[in-house]
Amino acid sequence: MDSRYDPEAASRLVHELAGHASEALALRTYTARLVGSESSLVLHGGGNTSVKETAPTLFGETVEVLHVKGSGWDLATIEPAGHPAVRLAPLRRLRALATLSDEAMVNELRANLLDSAAPNPSVEALLHAFLPARFIDHTHADAILAVCDQPEGERICAAIFGRGFVWIPYVMPGFALAKKCAEAFERVAATTEPTVMVLEKHGLFTWGATAKESYERTIAAVTRAERYAVEHSPTVSFSLGRRSDVTDDQILPRLRGAAAALAGDAPERGPIVRHRSTPAILGFLARPDVAKLVAKGCATPDHVIRTKATALLVPRPAFDVSDASGAGDVFGAQLRGAMERYAREYDEYFETMCRSKGVTKKKLDPWPRVVLLPGFGACALGATASEADIALDLYEHTIDVMTNASEIGAYEPVGRSELFDLEYWSLEQAKLKPVVELPLSRCIALVTGAASGIGRATATHVALAGAHVTLVDRDEKALALVESEVRRKLGKSAAGRVLAFVADVRDEASVERAVAGTVSAWGGLDLVVSNAGAAPEGRLDTADGEAALRDSLALNCLSHATVARLAARIMMAQGRGGCLLFNASKSAFNPGPGFGPYAVAKSALIALMRQYAVDLGPSAIRSNAVNADRIRTGLFAGGVAESRAKARGVGPDEYFRANLLGREVTADDVASAFVYLASARATTGCVVTVDGGNAAAFPR
Ligand code: ZN
Repeated sequence: MDSRYDPEAASRLVHELAGHASEALALRTYTARLVGSESSLVLHGGGNTSVKETAPTLFGETVEVLHVKGSGWDLATIEPAGHPAVRLAPLRRLRALATLSDEAMVNELRANLLDSAAPNPSVEALLHAFLPARFIDHTHADAILAVCDQPEGERICAAIFGRGFVWIPYVMPGFALAKKCAEAFERVAATTEPTVMVLEKHGLFTWGATAKESYERTIAAVTRAERYAVEHSPTVSFSLGRRSDVTDDQILPRLRGAAAALAGDAPERGPIVRHRSTPAILGFLARPDVAKLVAKGCATPDHVIRTKATALLVPRPAFDVSDASGAGDVFGAQLRGAMERYAREYDEYFETMCRSKGVTKKKLDPWPRVVLLPGFGACALGATASEADIALDLYEHTIDVMTNASEIGAYEPVGRSELFDLEYWSLEQAKLKPVVELPLSRCIALVTGAASGIGRATATHVALAGAHVTLVDRDEKALALVESEVRRKLGKSAAGRVLAFVADVRDEASVERAVAGTVSAWGGLDLVVSNAGAAPEGRLDTADGEAALRDSLALNCLSHATVARLAARIMMAQGRGGCLLFNASKSAFNPGPGFGPYAVAKSALIALMRQYAVDLGPSAIRSNAVNADRIRTGLFAGGVAESRAKARGVGPDEYFRANLLGREVTADDVASAFVYLASARATTGCVVTVDGGNAAAFPR
């Protein structure tokens, strides 16, 4: 691994942060980011860094402080505030204590913060405090784990690092580990200068007088471990894994459906499933010893809260995928069986651990986070795509560690009992952000005609209600604009939650690509808002009017049938119900003069909606429509508004307010109705009017 330290970039940041951070803290920030942006060093909030400094008090005195990474910060994007300052002297004094509970440790750390509003200092803060060096870097580097997740880790690491090497037998993070590290450091320091510390089955510490020295010692240590791995690789290699001839939509909806059913998710909701099938993953899954390796569990203890102790490996998956509707579904049954077995084993593990440790804990859910399907790839399940991606990132690196560790010697990571302590440690669980449950959380949605008008408002409302949403439209430019608008409105939570596909709903292949893309990205589909349409005018007693009717039937009726059929196929494969929503029109009930091509097609759409309610009800797939009227959208562009107003004998503004409530109805009103129907679990075959009230168009 190469050092990416760039003196110019470093001094640029020092300059940029002048006034906000001392030079030392700015350089600390710079190298912390270097460490954080290298995924084979740390991942997703893992690792921690520190620098010791002095700070003035209100009385003009100077105190020594430890700037140490605060909980909730990611090294890759850390700012000076991400290394809150803690008074160092009281922390060092703690070393004299024989024991210190976790609660007392957190309290001491908080009580000594200079800024009372700062985040909690890292659970490894005392370790940083007890070591004398000015700059300290702690990582869970893959290459280091491959040499310390070994039965002979100490011997191997001593051979790699030689003089100045400090070895710490496994101890859970916290006060006891901090003391052990300080003692071991001092033992080595008595005879030589300690330069590198390896924590058995956990990771690496390096330090230095400057940010650069500490960072480059991390890089040097990792490079030596990498070189050792290369020199000790056996000449035999395993055959490359190959992906079976199955498509994502034959596999993922059934995995998602099985997981949702077993975990007792509400209908039309389920985990978001992300998957990867890189050559490295497929090759790993094809190893003859894959089951043995997978069962050994996490490469470093703090992965456990994201991936659970082990992944679920489904050996020899039965990809009997000729019928994706799930009839005679051997694969689905195999998945359910494997998941149930996994959960039973988790329950037993939980009971055994509680009994043997004499503790009572509140059991976490027993379901796997990572599911491995040889011949297909690695899948991760989460409440959001980002959460699932984190689990997959961790597991991909775990695969690297397992592969290299078994080439060097034998992969032997931290044991199940120690992992249990971590999994149920309140300080670890606190790292997981609480999930905010919204009406459409864990719902995968697709909205057609999303680039304008009602579709645009609906896509936005559906996304704000918590769904993962695919935007479909044939207007590429407008679609890109709306996609970025939705992302902006979602803010930080947009990550991984919005997709856009250019598709013309009259072209089955392009709709198929949008549906397949949605399934590939998130594992299924629960909600479709079939909205795309246009409003052609014409008298049906003319040839032009009849031609317009034919076109309108293709767009305003038959294209909805295509969208619904392709979506229902995925919903059936999931077996968790689903929700089809159609944008109809009041014209279906109250046709206007010279508007036949539109009214006839929309009437047919209402009939189509009702037919789906009848046919798909037994599969728990609901079908409903919204009848909106006179919404100022693109539909009324190009003189249509004026022409319709004239047909009713009023001016345009009056036309839009001509309803029982006397108020103009907006696209947002329609969007709210769609969001309501998406959660109206007992409603199917229904038309909801959003027209301000129109007695002549009451559905009957
Ligand atoms: Zn650590």
